[in-house]
Amino acid sequence: MFRWGFRARILVSFLLLIIFALTLLGSYLLWFFYRQNLEDQTAHLVTNAKITERLIVEYMNGPTEKASIDEKIKELSTQINLRITIIDTSGTVLADSWENPASMENHLHRQEIETALTSDYGTAVRYSSTIGQNMLYAAITIKHGHEIIGTVRTATTLGPVEAAYSNIRSTLLAAIFVASLLTILLSISLARKYTTPIEEITAAAKDIADGDLDRRIHVRTGDELEILAHTLNKLTSNLEDKINETSAEAKKLSLILQHMDNAVLLLDRYGRVTTANKRAREIFSITDAMIGKHSIEVIGNSILNQTIHTTITTNQNQFINLKINIDGSKRVFQVFFAPITLSEHAVVGVLSVFHDITTMQEIHERQIDFVANASHELATPLTAIKGFAETLLDGALESPELSVKFVSIIQTEAERMNRLIKALLQLAKLDSQEYRQQIQLEEIALEPILNTVTTELMPQAKQKNITIIFESSSDLTIALTNYDWIKQVIVNLVENAVKYTPNNGKIILKCWQSDTTAFVSIQDNGIGIPYKDLPLIFDRFYRVDKARTRNAGGSGLGLSLVKFIVEMLGGEIRVQSKVNYGTTFTFSQPLAATSKQDLTNS
Ligand code: ADP
Repeated sequence: MFRWGFRARILVSFLLLIIFALTLLGSYLLWFFYRQNLEDQTAHLVTNAKITERLIVEYMNGPTEKASIDEKIKELSTQINLRITIIDTSGTVLADSWENPASMENHLHRQEIETALTSDYGTAVRYSSTIGQNMLYAAITIKHGHEIIGTVRTATTLGPVEAAYSNIRSTLLAAIFVASLLTILLSISLARKYTTPIEEITAAAKDIADGDLDRRIHVRTGDELEILAHTLNKLTSNLEDKINETSAEAKKLSLILQHMDNAVLLLDRYGRVTTANKRAREIFSITDAMIGKHSIEVIGNSILNQTIHTTITTNQNQFINLKINIDGSKRVFQVFFAPITLSEHAVVGVLSVFHDITTMQEIHERQIDFVANASHELATPLTAIKGFAETLLDGALESPELSVKFVSIIQTEAERMNRLIKALLQLAKLDSQEYRQQIQLEEIALEPILNTVTTELMPQAKQKNITIIFESSSDLTIALTNYDWIKQVIVNLVENAVKYTPNNGKIILKCWQSDTTAFVSIQDNGIGIPYKDLPLIFDRFYRVDKARTRNAGGSGLGLSLVKFIVEMLGGEIRVQSKVNYGTTFTFSQPLAATSKQDLTNS
C-alpha cells in the first residue's frame, strides 16, 4: 500500500507541477497574444478612422453633401478592406460601407460611439450576427473647428485573430498532453529509482523489528539513503552486541544464582515467591507449581513473612536467624533480606538469601559441650586432689598410713588428669588441618606393632590375670599408615579391653588382609556394651556407666580419638558387643602396595 502510495505521490506531484506550469505559461502567452493583437487592430482602426474623418469632414456641412457621403465611403472601403460607418450627432447613420444606412437603426447608444463622444476614441468588441463573427469597433468624433458634427466608426472582423488564438491554444494543449506523458514516464522511472532502496530499507527494518538481528541492508545510492542504510546496519549491530552482552550477563547471573550454595528466593511486594534457585528448591522442596504462591504457603514460617513485610515497609536490609524443621530435622539459617527497588522509594520486591548455618551451629554447640565436659572432667580429679591435700594438711599427715593412702589417691587423680590433658592435647593436635597434612604415611607391618603392644600391656593385664593372645597369620600384613598413631589406636583399644574385662578374662588380637585392606581386631570377653549405647561410644566424653568407668580411670575420650585417627588414616572402625559376653573392635587401614603384590604373587 505504502509502495504504491509513495510512487503515486511522486507521479501526481510531477504531473500537477508540469500541468500547472504549462497552463500558467500558456494562459499568459494566449492572453498576451490576444491583447497585443487587439491593441494593434485598434490602433489600425483608429488611424483609418482619422484618415476617413479628414476625407469626409467637408461633406458634413450641408444636406446635399451629406447625401453623397455614403457613396464616398463605399468607394473608400473597397481600398482599405474595413467597414466604415459615418454617424451624425443624433445617432443617425449617414453612411456605411457594408450596409444601406437608411435601413440601419440609431447608433447613438453604441458603446464605441458613446465613449468616443466623451474621450479621444471609443472601442468595443461585439458579435456580429450578420457575418457570424466577433467584430472590433473603433470610433472617433468628426469636428468642425471645436464643434462635434458626427462620428466616424471603423470596424474589422476578429476572425483571423481568433483563429490564430485558437491554433495557439490547441498547440499548447498538445504540448501539455505530451509533457504530461513524458512526466508520467519520467516520474515512474524516478519513483522506481527512489522507492526501490526505500522499499529495501523498509523491508529490512521490518525484519529487524521482528527480531532478525543478522539482517543487513545493501544500498549503494551514494546519497542520504545509503547513509540511512549504513546507520540502520550500525544500529542493528550495536543492538545485537547489547542484546548479546545483556543475555550473557543474565546467563552469568542465572548460573551464579543456580549454582550458589545458598538458597535464594525472590519475592514480590505481596510476599509471593517469584523465583527460587536450585538450592532453594532442594531445601524447601519447591516445585514449579509453587512459584507465584505466598511465602507462608511455600516455607510456612510467619517470622519470615513478617521480615519480608518489614523489609518492604522500611526499605532497608534485614537479617534474621531462622530455625525451621525440614523433613523432621532441625535446620538453622541466617537469612538476609534486601529490598528490590526500581526508583528511589518504589519497592517492587525482596531478595532473600538463606545461609545454612546448621553445621556451624552444631559445631558451636558441640564446642560449648566440649568445654563444659572437659572442665567437668578436669574439675573432678582436681577437687579430689585439693580435698586430699587439704585433709593431709589438716592433720592426716601425722598418720603415716593415711598419708600413704591419700598421697597415692592424689597420684592416681593426677595421673588421670595427666591422661585427660594428654588426650585433649592429642585431639587438639588432630583437629588442626595443618598437622593432619604433615602426617607421613609409610608401609608398616602391623604384626610387630601388635606384638609390641601385647608386651607393653602385659603387666597391666597380669594384675587382673587377663591373658592377651595374639593370633598372627603366617604373612606380614603391611598397611599404608602412620606408626605412632596406629600404635596409639591399638594401645587405646587393648587398654579398654583390659579395663572392661573382669579378672581372669581373655583378650585376642588378630590381624589379616583382603585385596585392598588390612584389618586388626581386638576381642575381649568382658562386660560388653549395651546395644543402645553402641552408636554413642565414639562420641567425646561418652561413657556407658560413668561411675564405673571413672573408677577404671577412663576419660571418655579414648574411643573418639581412636575413630578420629582410624578415619584420618583412611580406614574404618566397627564394634560388636554383647553385655556380659564381650566386645570386639575391628578397624581397617589401606593395604600397602607391597602387601598387594605379595597377595597377587602367592
Ligand atoms: P574411657 O576412657 O572412659 O574408656 P573411651 O572413649 O575409651 O573412654 O570409651 C568410651 C566408653 O565405652 C567407656 O566408658 C566404656 O563404657 C565403653 N567401652 C570402651 N571399650 C570397651 C570394652 N572393651 N568393653 C566394654 N566397654 C567398653
